Amino acid sequence: MGRLLGALLAAWLMVTPAAAAGWALALHGGAGTLERGGYAPGEEAAIREALADALEKGRAILASGGTAVDAVEAVVVALEASPHFNAGVGAALTSAGTAELDAAIMDGATRRAAAVTGVMTTESPIRLARRLMETGPHVFLAGPAADGFARAHGLAQVPNSHFITPARRRMLEELQKGGAAAFDIRLRFGTVGAVARDRAGNLAAATSTGGLTGKAPGRIGDTPVIGAGTVAENGACAVSATGSGEIFIRARAAGQICDRIRFGGQTAQAAADAVIADIGALGGDGGVIVVDALGQVSFALNAPGMYRAAVTEGTAPVVKIFADE
Ligand code: ASP
Repeated sequence: MGRLLGALLAAWLMVTPAAAAGWALALHGGAGTLERGGYAPGEEAAIREALADALEKGRAILASGGTAVDAVEAVVVALEASPHFNAGVGAALTSAGTAELDAAIMDGATRRAAAVTGVMTTESPIRLARRLMETGPHVFLAGPAADGFARAHGLAQVPNSHFITPARRRMLEELQKGGAAAFDIRLRFGTVGAVARDRAGNLAAATSTGGLTGKAPGRIGDTPVIGAGTVAENGACAVSATGSGEIFIRARAAGQICDRIRFGGQTAQAAADAVIADIGALGGDGGVIVVDALGQVSFALNAPGMYRAAVTEGTAPVVKIFADE
């Protein structure tokens, strides 16, 4: 009898908070050298507004009972369309001056996932990843095959120049001139991502990027690598990362956070902090956003700033840029 009661209590403790927890949503727009005063007039306000608008897209879906997968896709579609971020329009450029886009999405309920890399003509790489996840059978498509899949599925196509902004051209030129600012420019990331928990308790993550300014054509970062830049597993967490992609791959960053929670019993915040410390120890910079099984939102970063925002059922939206906000 005592054992039965104990088992029931344990089941109640595990299930009740999750069932009682509401929806939650967090997004990032990249981490890097985002220092106070380093913006053109009006730029900081415009970025905060773009983050708030994208958050609202996902909030509306979750608040009306929509799924976490739909919410993270909608947030990332909005951020890809904004020239302020390094994804879609405004993507960082390769050393050849082209935009090569990476994206990934994962559904924590089913652990279905899909990723695309080297996308050059598909207007929304995250929509492409979502379509691949729904259609299968493959999980990862590269280059012309990814764009070809998008075309075959009727997803909007654009010339590569659609993604290229004057600001990104300037950044590439400065980097290639090798001026003193070159290293800082490299650190101005801008990748976008979102994580969510819906009312049904399902988790999802999505990330989209142009990668690093001056990257070699064909280079693949952590964003589309499931378990490095993007992961979602019900019962553990959903993670989207931004930062030095090579290091995030080597640290298995997103998966390591979920494993620390699932197998190590750590809180999401402790797990995120530990993995960012690991990234730092390997010489990397960046940040992560995490939502856990109960809808708790955590952020961790080791850069001066990370564009980020969050909203949960019953709390007001928050938008932040600097590490000390
Ligand atoms: N992590 C991305 C990459 O390495 C860059 C970023 O976060 O801005 O491709």
